[in-house]
Amino acid sequence: MPELPEVEKAAGRLRRAAVGKTILAVRAIHPALRRKFTASHARAAKGKRIDSIERRGKHQLLHLEGGDTLVVHFRMNGDWEMGAATEPLDRFARATIELTDGTRISLVDRRALSAITLDKPGESSLPRLGLEASDAAMNAKYLVDVLRRKKIAIKPALMDQAVVAGLGNIYAAEALWEAKIDPRRPAAEVSRPRLGKLVDAIRLVLSPKKRLPGRYTDKRGAGRFAVYDRAGKPCRRCGGIIERIVQAGRSTYFCPKCQRR
Ligand SMILES: [Zn+2]
Repeated sequence: MPELPEVEKAAGRLRRAAVGKTILAVRAIHPALRRKFTASHARAAKGKRIDSIERRGKHQLLHLEGGDTLVVHFRMNGDWEMGAATEPLDRFARATIELTDGTRISLVDRRALSAITLDKPGESSLPRLGLEASDAAMNAKYLVDVLRRKKIAIKPALMDQAVVAGLGNIYAAEALWEAKIDPRRPAAEVSRPRLGKLVDAIRLVLSPKKRLPGRYTDKRGAGRFAVYDRAGKPCRRCGGIIERIVQAGRSTYFCPKCQRR
C-alpha cells in the first residue's frame, strides 16, 4: 500500500506534470472507478486549468479553475504514469487525465481499487481527517485531546485517519517503536510526555532523510524499517526479538522488550 511518503512523492510528480495545464478530458476507464466519476463530472472537468495540487492524508486534490476539485486516492496499488497521449495506454490504466499540451496522466492500478471523483465548490468527498504530521498544531496536547475518549489500543487508534491524516500501518508501527510505546497499550492511557515523544517520532519516520542510518539498516545496508516486517529478527535498539501480532485486522510489529506497556 502506498504510504504517506510515497503519496507525497506521487503528488509532487503530478504537480510537475499538471499544474498550469488545461484538461482536455478526464476518463474513468474501469467500471469500478466510473461509479464515483460520472459523465457529469467528466463534463465539469473538461477545459479547466489545473491550478494546484494538494495532498490531504493520502488523498491527492487537483484544484481546478472555477473551484471544482478532482480527488484521487490510490488505495492499495495506485500510481501515476506520465506520458504522451499518443503512447499506447497501460493495460492497468483505470483513469486518464489528458491535457491540451498532448500529455496524458494515467492512474494505473493492477487491482482497480483506486478512486477518483469530482467535488463541486463547497462539497467534500473526503472523510474526516485529523491534522497532518507536518502541521504545527500537531503536538502532545492535540493527541491527548483526540485519544482521550478512544477505547482501543494506541496502534489502531493512530491509524484512524481522523487522528493523524495519512498515517498508515507501517509508519504507525515504526513511530511507536521510536517512541518506545507498546502498540497494545490503551490509547487513552498513554501519558502526555510520551505522546510528545510520539509526535516527534511520527515526524521522524515520515521523513526518510531525517532517520538515523544505523537504526533502519543492518551492516549490509539492507532494510528500511526498524520493526515492520521483521518478526523474529533482533531489535535494532535492544536486541529483543521483534514480534508480529494482529490488531484490528492488520499486522503490528513491535519489540516487546523495549516498547513498554
Ligand atoms: Zn527493542
